[in-house]
Amino acid sequence: MTVATSFPIARRGLMLVLSSPSGAGKSTLARLLLDKHPEIHLSVSVTTRERRPSEVEGIHYHFIKRERFDRLRETGDLLESAEVHGNFYGTPREPVEAALSDGKDVLFDIDYQGTLQLYEKMRTDIVGVFILPPSATELKTRLERRAEDASGVIEKRLKNARTEIAHWQHYDYVLVNQDLDTTFRSLEAVLLAERLRRERMIGLTPIIERLDQELETLTA
Ligand code: 5GP
Repeated sequence: MTVATSFPIARRGLMLVLSSPSGAGKSTLARLLLDKHPEIHLSVSVTTRERRPSEVEGIHYHFIKRERFDRLRETGDLLESAEVHGNFYGTPREPVEAALSDGKDVLFDIDYQGTLQLYEKMRTDIVGVFILPPSATELKTRLERRAEDASGVIEKRLKNARTEIAHWQHYDYVLVNQDLDTTFRSLEAVLLAERLRRERMIGLTPIIERLDQELETLTA
């Protein structure tokens, strides 16, 4: 799990998890991040939900039937899975493991249930970021503006927002998405700082030892 960065020391790939109530801007932020940082691998989930008109199979999700979902879960092919708004979602294990072992950072757009499962399995590799809407009214407006879901679905998502928000304390960072540009800059700052964490550095000890020896020689 090594990656070459502008920092001269190799490091382990990290797992950047974004969660938020539906409509808080998480998907837009994820898209902006991937556009600007194409080296990041996006984990594409499987879901039993109906495809929205704007969605593309294999890009936004892998749309699958419930039977297939159950099979994937039973065979351990999902890293985490959860029921959200009455549909089932899960993270395919293999592509994530392949990306991490290739030294890449991986981005996840998943709910709090999935995040808790990942935290339990791989605590040190996870960076959890929770995105809050600036207000409930703004959240409703954004869901309506998307206009891809029926009004019953929007109501359900608003109700579920309370459950999602109730889990904010499990995350490493909480960002209020008042202004998209500002939130995006904060998200990038989180990514940069997390990439530089000492715990993720590989082979730091020999580098420090060499530096120390050189200093000893210089000061002898
Ligand atoms: P949507 O149906 O609007 O695309 O997503 C609904 C919710 O399901 C979002 O909060 C999204 O983050 C979450 N979600 C999407 N994929 C996964 C997944 O693989 N696992 C889990 N636990 N949640 C997911």
